[in-house]
Amino acid sequence: MSGRVEDLSVEALRGVGEKKSKALALQGIRSVGDLYRYFPRRYLDRSRVSGIAGLREGDEVTVCGTVGRSMREGAGRTRRLRVMLSDGSGTLELTWFRGAAWLGKVMQPGRHMAVFGKVSFFSGRPQMTHPDYELLEEGAAPRHADIMPIYPESEGLRKAGLDSRRLQACIREALRVCPPVTGELLPEDMVAHYRLLGGAEAYRQVHVPESREMLDKALRRLKWEELFFTQLFFALRRHQAKRHAGAHRFVRSGEKTAELYASLPFELTTAQKRAVREIYADLCSGQQMHRLVQGDVGSGKTLVAMFAMALAFDNGLQAAMMVPTEILAVQHWLGLKKYADALGLRFGLLTGGQSVVDREEVLRGLMAGTLDMVVGTHAVIQDKVVFKRLGLVVIDEQHRFGVVQRRALQEKACRPHVLLMTATPIPRTLTMGTFGDLDVTVIDELPEGRQPVTTKCYGHGLKQEVLNLLQREIEAGRQAYIVYPLVEESEKTDLKAATRGYHQLQDRIFPGFRLGLVHGRMPAAQKAEVMEAFRKGEIAILVGTTVIEVGVDVPNASVIVVAHAERFGLAQLHQLRGRVGRGEWPSWCCLLYDKAEGDAMERLRAMEASSDGFYLSRVDARLRGAGNVLGKEQSGIASSFRLADLDKDEDLLIEAREAAFRLVGEDPLLALPEHRSLRKKYEEYVATQSEFAGIG
Ligand code: ADP
Ligand code: MG
Repeated sequence: MSGRVEDLSVEALRGVGEKKSKALALQGIRSVGDLYRYFPRRYLDRSRVSGIAGLREGDEVTVCGTVGRSMREGAGRTRRLRVMLSDGSGTLELTWFRGAAWLGKVMQPGRHMAVFGKVSFFSGRPQMTHPDYELLEEGAAPRHADIMPIYPESEGLRKAGLDSRRLQACIREALRVCPPVTGELLPEDMVAHYRLLGGAEAYRQVHVPESREMLDKALRRLKWEELFFTQLFFALRRHQAKRHAGAHRFVRSGEKTAELYASLPFELTTAQKRAVREIYADLCSGQQMHRLVQGDVGSGKTLVAMFAMALAFDNGLQAAMMVPTEILAVQHWLGLKKYADALGLRFGLLTGGQSVVDREEVLRGLMAGTLDMVVGTHAVIQDKVVFKRLGLVVIDEQHRFGVVQRRALQEKACRPHVLLMTATPIPRTLTMGTFGDLDVTVIDELPEGRQPVTTKCYGHGLKQEVLNLLQREIEAGRQAYIVYPLVEESEKTDLKAATRGYHQLQDRIFPGFRLGLVHGRMPAAQKAEVMEAFRKGEIAILVGTTVIEVGVDVPNASVIVVAHAERFGLAQLHQLRGRVGRGEWPSWCCLLYDKAEGDAMERLRAMEASSDGFYLSRVDARLRGAGNVLGKEQSGIASSFRLADLDKDEDLLIEAREAAFRLVGEDPLLALPEHRSLRKKYEEYVATQSEFAGIG
């Protein structure tokens, strides 16, 4: 692209003055190039118009007609505009709750108009709420092509007179006076090999589609390009990481590793062994490890991490493990300390809640090198923490961390190896789109002898059947969890629910058993005390909020009851269920719900139907869209796509990834003359994507 044209200010366009350019700038549109990248939200396809008489509930269709009556009704928050649109076969009622005043002026009786939206029926009459619309010119031949782009509008744009239609006019004008791309940005052979539409043509067609077919080609090209740049980012980053000398090369799988293996009371699963082998190979490669271990709840990831840490010790290096909650830090510390002590590894704990004295001692130990390992919450990544010779960083339950925290730890010492562990298996496309520069190990096997967890849903309240189950199991020597949801906005009321539940159960229902209460607002020491008592079996039933969701491992627990299960996501429910079925006893998961709205019932049924985390994550992706399966903090790049959709564009993603990695393989610095414009474009692209900056 001749950079000049791209950089031309939008004010250079006819009809765009100060007011409009200000409104555009608020949307991040300053140059003509920005304008070209302001893509339509959807298209209104007038070549496929439906008659009103034939509409059915739920149809998403385009309808053309004439405005009959148009009424502004209600006041305040219920103010709305109702418009009757007739096409000769019937009448469709359109409603707008926003912009009623302004739209009312435009939609005068007699106007021809095309609308696109979802049909619903009310008292037997078809309706659309907030349809997209396009005013048609009276009598004259249609000015526009049949496929009409609909642009995202904002209040500001609209006020500046830039509704979708005017934006479209602006972009047409831009296309006329400074056509988008003069040179092809992607290497020619790539464009040919993947049969991509040329860049300039794609921009033209996406804004002014000539036909459905050309539009599809244009969208394919632009999505491909978007995916390609992110994959190029991953490919270059991976190449850099591998090239970078100075990662600690492990040379020994020595005594401690062997001793650890010999000391285990059970055999590692095949999948665990494979994970340890892959990690060892990374550590020995002389290149910095970036590996993501995905394994279902209870698949034994902690032990895999322990092997990695023992390997670090055998090679004279320190290891740090970061976990999302204090409870989990303490648990890992207690659990792994057994192994560490037996091996003679000195192992510290670092949490926000511990006493200053304890903390100072651990900090000194890490700096002096008298501690070999440390586990902690994000306290581990604070600046005060200095390691003598950090070689490995393990991040457990990494989906709970934001990319920034992950990165901080990674930058602690001279390029420590990084091992990420997650119990949230995500679809393959999402892994590629989000963690594209990581190597991935999947632990797809549970230790032998695990008893199945029977899952059952119960509507409305704590049923006698559940109480009987609790009673029976506790009398048999088992333990149980009862979990209440804790949603941020209503934290206080939720906390009350958990506390009330606890008192009710303790005082009225199970006065003979000892119950414990744990929640996030408790002081750390008190939390630790309750957890310790539960771990020792002194507490029979642990009532808590979701602080126990991740990682907690008490194999003697055999029942988990989740209150308001309808308020939890599928991944969360699966995590919670993972707290039981960890020992040799059959276990139960009771999901109580009140009002299961939306997808809630489907989630609960899926829990009953399967205990396979990978299966459930696919269900979750289907219900919510793959992009939403990861939290916002995690999805990084994936959430920054303007056109591509990791749910739907798997084929494109695979192609683009292949192309990017091959290109970097051939020309790692993009230094060849034919890649010069690509390199420049890539740099610009990265600079505009703040998401890239923080990717861990
Ligand atoms: P997760 O993958 O959910 O982090 P954990 O590491 O907490 O799972 O392991 C769950 C339980 O399984 C722990 O009590 C652990 O000691 C046990 N465990 C791990 N590996 C094995 C194995 N190979 N055989 C039997 N039990 C195992
Ligand atoms: Mg774990």
